[in-house]
Amino acid sequence: MKIVAIGGFFHESNTFNPIITSREDFIIFEGEALYTKGDKYPSAQGIADYFWEREGYRILPLVFARAVPNGEVSLALYLELKARFFELLGDVIPDIFVLPLHGSMRVGKIGSAESDLLLAIKRRYPKVPIVCALDMHATITNTMLECVEALVGYKTAPHTDAWETGQHAARLADMLLSEGKKLCMKAVKLPYLIAGEKSETECSPMRELIAALRHLETEEGVLAASLLLGFPWADTPDNGVTAVVITDNAPDKAELYARDLAQLFTSKKGDFGFSAEADEPLISLRKALAESVKPVFVSDSGDNPTAGSTGDNNSMIALLSHELKEECRTLKILVAGIYDPRAVERCKGQIGSVIELKIGGTYDTKYSQDLVIKGVPLRYVPAFGVYSSELILFQTAEFELIITSKHIGFTGVDMFEALALNYLNMDVIVVKLGYLTPDFLEIAAKHYLALSRGCTDEVLERLKHSGDFEKV
Ligand SMILES: [Zn+2]
Repeated sequence: MKIVAIGGFFHESNTFNPIITSREDFIIFEGEALYTKGDKYPSAQGIADYFWEREGYRILPLVFARAVPNGEVSLALYLELKARFFELLGDVIPDIFVLPLHGSMRVGKIGSAESDLLLAIKRRYPKVPIVCALDMHATITNTMLECVEALVGYKTAPHTDAWETGQHAARLADMLLSEGKKLCMKAVKLPYLIAGEKSETECSPMRELIAALRHLETEEGVLAASLLLGFPWADTPDNGVTAVVITDNAPDKAELYARDLAQLFTSKKGDFGFSAEADEPLISLRKALAESVKPVFVSDSGDNPTAGSTGDNNSMIALLSHELKEECRTLKILVAGIYDPRAVERCKGQIGSVIELKIGGTYDTKYSQDLVIKGVPLRYVPAFGVYSSELILFQTAEFELIITSKHIGFTGVDMFEALALNYLNMDVIVVKLGYLTPDFLEIAAKHYLALSRGCTDEVLERLKHSGDFEKV
């Protein structure tokens, strides 16, 4: 019986965001909960499902923690998770580690959390191989490459293949352990930073680059091919794009294909762009308000919590409340939404009353303003989604606003349904997001990308990175 140890953590850490991501932001699974609980993570599940169905393997589930992307992770929490990871191993020496990791989690004083964990594993179990399933936006360090036998990344953005990537990593581990294949990994790094919303895989050039990866994987002896794009909203020296190819015992072939991929990427770097019409916020909002179809989505892309922004930038709310208030009053507008635990607390006891509410700008003090809005807290939901956030629906003369008590993403209509919102009847829906999720794409009559300021500014030139990167 071969023992497969599964565990790790999943977080994308935005170093431009001052929030320290801590225990209350994470959901932590231990032992069997890693693959039996309903709200587990699909890449961990993909790995577990693979070995669950195969004879001759025993899964050793360790600890797995995930949180919505945010600022860097608390050092104390990370050290605790890491200690628990090894504690759960006990005296067992597994045959392999197959780890679902993001690849761009950062911890104060430590830097790359994945590098730190992988190095710690390698020091304690120098002979035990490690295979990782990673997010497409993983930041690949030399330490990671030195510690692991293989890594494989998502091939879709928006990310819909996390489970499949987990299965792929598990298959690589299986080949190594049971089929006697020798995993041979080669990587080429490129000094490019790609704005997150330019990496949609339905659009050119990612569509062609992903097709090249899939084609490579059909070649004789090629076991995996990935393009890990790095994470543009972290100021780290290891950032950038990495092409990785894994072959069965053919180092030259792996090297050649990794170079080919890197070359192909370089040849297409001038083609990266946004799929939606992208403008400064006031222009995007004006265009959306003038549309005759509905609902029109406007992404407040500079403050996208699913890419680690603060989620409390109030600049779009300010525009709707002031410059655009006349246009708004004849339309139905939904703003989804803003992260403001204090505002939620204030509204909870005032449902149905007219109040003045200070909103946003606690963490994003650079691009937010002191803003007070007047309106009525209409509805309260005590626990929404896997992170159990409280929700408030706040009605002003110009728009309806969703306020959350937790730093969560605005990614699906389930939140609108929880608040009994007739979202299809909205003229304009402003979301703190970049490219639209499949859920929103399905209902959006039109989409504008507002190039707002914040910790996930899509105009990378407006952010200061200390490394020598080409921003494409
Ligand atoms: Zn990603």
